[in-house]
Amino acid sequence: MNSRLTELTLIELTESIHRGEVKAEEVVEAYLSKINEKEPQIKAFITVTADLALEQAKKIDNKKEKGKLAGAPLAIKDNILTAGIRTTCASRILENYIPPYNATVVNRLLAEDALIIGKTNLDEFAMGSSTENSAFFPTRNPYDINRVPGGSSGGSAAAVASGEAVASLGSDTGGSIRQPAAFCNLVGLKPTYGRVSRYGLVAFASSLDQIGPLTRTVEDAALMMEVIAGYDPHDSTSASVPVPSYRLALKGEKKVFKIGYLPEEKIKEVTPEIKSAYFNLLNFLEREGFACEALDLKLWDYALPCYYLIAPSEASSNLARYDGIRYGFRYPGEHNLKSLYALTRTVGFGPEVKRRILLGTFALSAGYYEAYYGRARHVRYLIKEEFRKTFASVDVILTPTTPEPPFYLGAKVEPISMYLSDYFTVAANLAGLPAISLPMALTEKGLPLGLQIMAPPFEEERIFWLAFFIEKKVKSKRNIFNWKEEK
Ligand code: GLN
Repeated sequence: MNSRLTELTLIELTESIHRGEVKAEEVVEAYLSKINEKEPQIKAFITVTADLALEQAKKIDNKKEKGKLAGAPLAIKDNILTAGIRTTCASRILENYIPPYNATVVNRLLAEDALIIGKTNLDEFAMGSSTENSAFFPTRNPYDINRVPGGSSGGSAAAVASGEAVASLGSDTGGSIRQPAAFCNLVGLKPTYGRVSRYGLVAFASSLDQIGPLTRTVEDAALMMEVIAGYDPHDSTSASVPVPSYRLALKGEKKVFKIGYLPEEKIKEVTPEIKSAYFNLLNFLEREGFACEALDLKLWDYALPCYYLIAPSEASSNLARYDGIRYGFRYPGEHNLKSLYALTRTVGFGPEVKRRILLGTFALSAGYYEAYYGRARHVRYLIKEEFRKTFASVDVILTPTTPEPPFYLGAKVEPISMYLSDYFTVAANLAGLPAISLPMALTEKGLPLGLQIMAPPFEEERIFWLAFFIEKKVKSKRNIFNWKEEK
């Protein structure tokens, strides 16, 4: 078995398939044997679709004209619908749910001849930052199996980092693509709100949710975006803005001149290693000729509390549909309507999901609505405005992706401490901005740290250009961004 196949990037893999050097079937076999080897430890997948992937691979090998993603084994977060394949949201309430249709993103990937190798683990209904809230099992970080891979798209990140999939899809409501990407040394992009269709994404907080790619390189992310982005008549929030060639953009003319960054007082809670990697990187960029400006974002610190009112409020409304009648689990036996609801939801939802429903229902309730949800919505508007004004003077904003490196399983039992993991990521969702995380450095212990790049709406090209520029500067693929300067 060619084990090197599982180390190729998405671009390398699909190019060698196009050139006829390898067959999709060999690729799937290599990946399945990697899954057999790694899964007992990593536990990235809820469902592995081995037979389906092999069947698809054979069909692709027989095709003359192959699509852009020909033969690429992809992992899909288990809150994205796949027709005929169980989609659980890592929840007991959807444990045996088999969707009758594909999400638009899945159809787009399949139309380009991608292969679906499996459905990945997540925090239940994407609520969490460690994948420990999965109702089934936690996923482990391939860089240290005693640590979390991040969340909520932890399974999607761990699968790509451990060689069990060449790339994956995640969803990001407050950081769930970027934070796991940072923890697993990957590239993860949350696109502009409206850039990618959410048709077939199980809704968590509809004004914040976006689907995006997790990949090994910036160019791989650009390729994935070319396939999944664009208008979809099935999603009324999707924008009819043309999709540029992101791969051309990253190799094209300079797109970033002025960089905004967070000054020391805004990042005082981060670990010393992250602080030094971040400021080393900024110094490096300044020497490369970029103008760097410290930003005075007065509302930055309000983003987290604002998010933790808006997201649970929307979740409490979205999750009302799991009533034991239309979808998924129903508490067995005969009950009147009220007790059927109560029993089904009490048994079907885990503790974090219940906490969010309670918080959200309270924030939306008569008498408190204006004081909580209404106030948060107003603050959200102000945050959006502050970014709009800031982007009049800088092209992008750079921040660390997380305040700390991957933490140990079980380290954050108290909910607020888990919520604080999202300090750098939630603002982009509140303002609808595109934001990427890419590898920034490894700690002394070899743990990955991520850099976040944010841009104005629909300026993914800027992000890709700068991310590619930074990635290119680094020599070794294994230890990508150890900011020990190149001489
Ligand atoms: N960690 C955040 C939360 O728990 C974000 C989750 C997400 O982006 N899906 O809400």
